[in-house]
Amino acid sequence: MSEVVVVGGGIIGSLIAYRLRQAGLEVTVLEAGRAGQATRASAGMLAPYTEGLGGELLEWAREGLECYPALARELEALSGMAVPVALGGVWRLEGPLHSWQALHNLEPLPGGYLDPITLLAAVQKAFVSMGGSLQREEALHLEPGWVHTPTQRIAARQIVIACGAWSGRFGLAVRPLKGEALLLSAPPPPGPVFVGDSYALPRGAQVYLGATQREGWRPGVEAAGLRWLEQHRRTHFPLLHQAPITQRHWGYRPAGSLTVGRLAPGILAATGHGRNGILLAPATARRVTEMVLDSWKTHQ
Ligand SMILES: Cc1cc2nc3c(=O)[nH]c(=O)nc-3n(C[C@H](O)[C@H](O)[C@H](O)COP(=O)(O)OP(=O)(O)OC[C@H]3O[C@@H](n4cnc5c(N)ncnc54)[C@H](O)[C@@H]3O)c2cc1C
Repeated sequence: MSEVVVVGGGIIGSLIAYRLRQAGLEVTVLEAGRAGQATRASAGMLAPYTEGLGGELLEWAREGLECYPALARELEALSGMAVPVALGGVWRLEGPLHSWQALHNLEPLPGGYLDPITLLAAVQKAFVSMGGSLQREEALHLEPGWVHTPTQRIAARQIVIACGAWSGRFGLAVRPLKGEALLLSAPPPPGPVFVGDSYALPRGAQVYLGATQREGWRPGVEAAGLRWLEQHRRTHFPLLHQAPITQRHWGYRPAGSLTVGRLAPGILAATGHGRNGILLAPATARRVTEMVLDSWKTHQ
């Protein structure tokens, strides 16, 4: 029996699993390996002040921003993988940008970025190195105490649903909001830069340019998405106009109701993080860990 089974191995499920394992619980993550995982497509911006967040969500976002440098050091020690976190600020401009130099005269908002693909790999490696179990399995059906997959029935004192955009399958009010983005071979800006509803930020030595918002399950980067991205780079980032495309990214943001809490005895959910799941993951993981540990202590 696992003390906790986490369903979904994106950043939300993986970071929750890591924290619970760190607290000493037996934890299994089931990851179905769906195409369109949001975490791998994400820009990785840590930008609490450009996304219109307020109230408790803004507090969670600030917590994420504060936590990441220490979390990255912790993960590096356990996984051996460096997770660079850059917190030099986030710019928001009105007009087109003809040179990154222009940003040096403008005051950025607090924030920064990281590479979410590296972050996820480091979290999962650290989790497994501490004895956590990460299985390539799809959860088909949940009931208090049991998770059913195509090959097994796993006993679990607590189940955490962290399936991102796929959480609707388990009755949660979450829907897919597809995002498409490009990696461009060009010198990167000093940090994330928003112009209108598009943005550019560094991804290694390249530029990540994003991102569309399209409702529904439509796999891949579509022609309409490419047109949107091309038009935005021409009008908002003319300095990137000629830059060759080296990769296309796409994924389903879990849009709808942010749900972090208990649904029924033995079943919790952590989903609906929309456009800000990387930023909100540390606060979400802390809260879910506290809830699981509280009920674990009560039943000892
Ligand atoms: C283009 C784009 C840009 C973004 N930019 C940013 C940004 O700059 N900053 C930011 O903070 N956020 C950003 N986001 C949002 C962020 O990526 C998401 O909010 C976050 O990754 C959601 O994480 P998650 O773990 O909930 O979902 P996911 O990463 O989608 O993971 C869910 C996982 O559940 C698995 N799964 C589904 N069903 C089952 C099942 N039945 N059994 C087992 N496993 C299952 C899937 O295979 C998947 O791996 C962006 C998203 C996109 C698409």
